[in-house]
Amino acid sequence: MKILVPVKRVVDFNVKVRVKSDGSGVDLSNAKMAMNPFDEIAVEEAVRLKEHGIAGEVVVLSCGAAACHETLRNALALGADRAVLVKTESELQPLAVAKIITAVADREKPQLVICGKQAIDDDANQTGQMAASMLDWPQVTFASKLSIAEGMATVTREVDGGLEMIAVKLPAVVTTDLRLNEPRYVTLPNIMKAKKKPLETIKPEDLGVDVAPRLKTLTVAEPLKRSAGVMVPDVQTLVEKLKTEAKVL
Ligand code: AMP
Repeated sequence: MKILVPVKRVVDFNVKVRVKSDGSGVDLSNAKMAMNPFDEIAVEEAVRLKEHGIAGEVVVLSCGAAACHETLRNALALGADRAVLVKTESELQPLAVAKIITAVADREKPQLVICGKQAIDDDANQTGQMAASMLDWPQVTFASKLSIAEGMATVTREVDGGLEMIAVKLPAVVTTDLRLNEPRYVTLPNIMKAKKKPLETIKPEDLGVDVAPRLKTLTVAEPLKRSAGVMVPDVQTLVEKLKTEAKVL
């Protein structure tokens, strides 16, 4: 069984993002970039399925600028076998990425696509769902446990009321939640090995995909600053303030 894992290059989760002064977007100059954390979990899950003899090959896919090479090499060092970069300088929205995933899945014929549940830069939480719909495959989002047997994926997902278990027929799309696993650290020997693993670069046009944005960002702004809190001397004053000053926002 082949597994396809789409991985996105995003601003590292430790970095405090800055908005460009003209409000046109986030300032990425000199920002530290990394693999989207949910995608790292997706790669880890796919590699574990390979290590358990359930998957035969793990292919990672990234869409974006040439620098995505680095993200793909990192995924290869985590244990993926092969990488595909769909290179474009255009802004990529979830619909465009979903079209690319669909086209690559048509070519690669994986039995399972494991996406992150969301990219931490746009927080869209759309790509996996759109790709499943375009492929006309079943989908299970927010997986916190995944097992594969007899052509089925059994997935536990975290929902408001507790845990839900869903079984779907393969091929399917699964999106990862935080508790699915804890990704391994990349070791130096594996970084060296990853340099020799195949990495193919293609363009969206080679897949016949139109990646033109369909949504227009009007403006990007920092969240409003919270005003400072007030220390009260005793409970009495607190209750008084709650009665007279507290407002429901
Ligand atoms: P989103 O819908 O943007 O929140 O992204 C959800 C998931 O789709 C991510 O966790 C990735 O698995 C995948 N994805 C989104 N954008 C890209 C991209 N540019 N390249 C590869 N995978 C992506």
